[in-house]
Amino acid sequence: MQTNFSLAQLADPDTATSEKILRSCVHCGFCTATCPTYVLLGDELDSPRGRIYLIKDMLEHDKPANAEVALHIDRCLSCLACMTTCPSGVDYMHLVDHARAYIEATYRRPLADRLMRRALAAVLPYPGRFRIALAAAFFARPFARLFDRLPGLARFGAMLRLSPGRLPPRTASDSPGVFPPSGVRRGRVALLRGCAQSVLDPGINDAAIRLLNRAGVEVVLAEREGCCGALPHHMGRSHDAHELARRNIDAWTRETEGEGLDAILVTTSGCGTTVKDYGHLFRTDPVYSEKAARISALARDISEYVETLDLGIPAAPSGLTVAYHAACSLQHGQQIKVTPKALLARAGFAVREPAEPHLCCGSAGTYNMLQPELAGRLRDRKVENIEHTGAALVAAGNIGCITQIASGTDLPVVHTVELLDWAYGGPKPEKLAAL
Ligand code: SF4
Ligand code: SF4
Repeated sequence: MQTNFSLAQLADPDTATSEKILRSCVHCGFCTATCPTYVLLGDELDSPRGRIYLIKDMLEHDKPANAEVALHIDRCLSCLACMTTCPSGVDYMHLVDHARAYIEATYRRPLADRLMRRALAAVLPYPGRFRIALAAAFFARPFARLFDRLPGLARFGAMLRLSPGRLPPRTASDSPGVFPPSGVRRGRVALLRGCAQSVLDPGINDAAIRLLNRAGVEVVLAEREGCCGALPHHMGRSHDAHELARRNIDAWTRETEGEGLDAILVTTSGCGTTVKDYGHLFRTDPVYSEKAARISALARDISEYVETLDLGIPAAPSGLTVAYHAACSLQHGQQIKVTPKALLARAGFAVREPAEPHLCCGSAGTYNMLQPELAGRLRDRKVENIEHTGAALVAAGNIGCITQIASGTDLPVVHTVELLDWAYGGPKPEKLAAL
């Protein structure tokens, strides 16, 4: 695609990066077929190619974002299915990240939208605040339908419906600490505690720690580590995202310079994609660029690392049929497609893949709260495909997908690592008690 940026515009590193990305698009349109919003709405402006044109026009002409651009960029899930499909290797992720930050800087959103986004950014990345918000949501939950009917408040109804009926108790993986293996130490890793997952389902990291410890791996939950920054980053709040990411880079750098780390493991694939991208986020930062690149190089999804371990023979092959839901951040963001399914099959589960595996479930960070109508349609489509497999349960590698899918089905939805922990000697996940 031809572009027309001035030298002054290209002096800005983000614009220079976006210009290169724009030039790589040959506007063939292959990406439209796998874009969830184009599949649902059939509008070119809700396809990757249409969004690329909108972004190009806005950046090239130094135009402040307007309501139309914000509408179509906001509807993008950042699922990155378009990147998997694109034959020209267009780096849509960094282009839309830039567009979101540009919109945040140049467009004044309607008041309700601004308040909602501020509230999400102020609460979700902080486990203490999030816990209090969920406790309050428990009491407001019966009124979710009422919010649906009040103009401008439908998003609150969606948020209430996503909140859990009861909060799981805090566990050991909720605080910083070191979890040594019972036998010989064969490795040492950090595990991201993060934010929302540690409140919604601490059992996921508990399972990961048990599985790693049994395989001889010491697990560190680093002091002062927290939200990876993905949630504010996807809302275009670059400053907040950078602050959170810096804190994690410092926390893990202290560990690498102390006893050392073989890897930094992430059980929430949305966060894993962001931690792997720290090198890019800080590429022009004179203080953090090298440190960030080192942290990104150590980042692994839990499934990638577990695949390298000798787990032995499954202690209790269950024979259960599992529908594996491929989180977008795992299959498109990190291009990890086969490993989780292979691990589950090796552990004795019969794995089924639902139809349309490339399509997002509608979770996408804060998307299911900010775009509840589209997110609900994607969830229903995903659940229908999952239930068609006849599986007894669902496995996924991302808490956002787990929460989203569970809100639309009676099937138990668990994290892949919980099933692996169970199969190799850990306790049966609570959600599977009835199976
Ligand atoms: S498939 Fe790639 S090159 Fe073709 S229009 Fe989409 S982004 Fe551009
Ligand atoms: S990231 Fe997903 S929703 Fe956004 S343009 Fe690409 S395929 Fe469509």
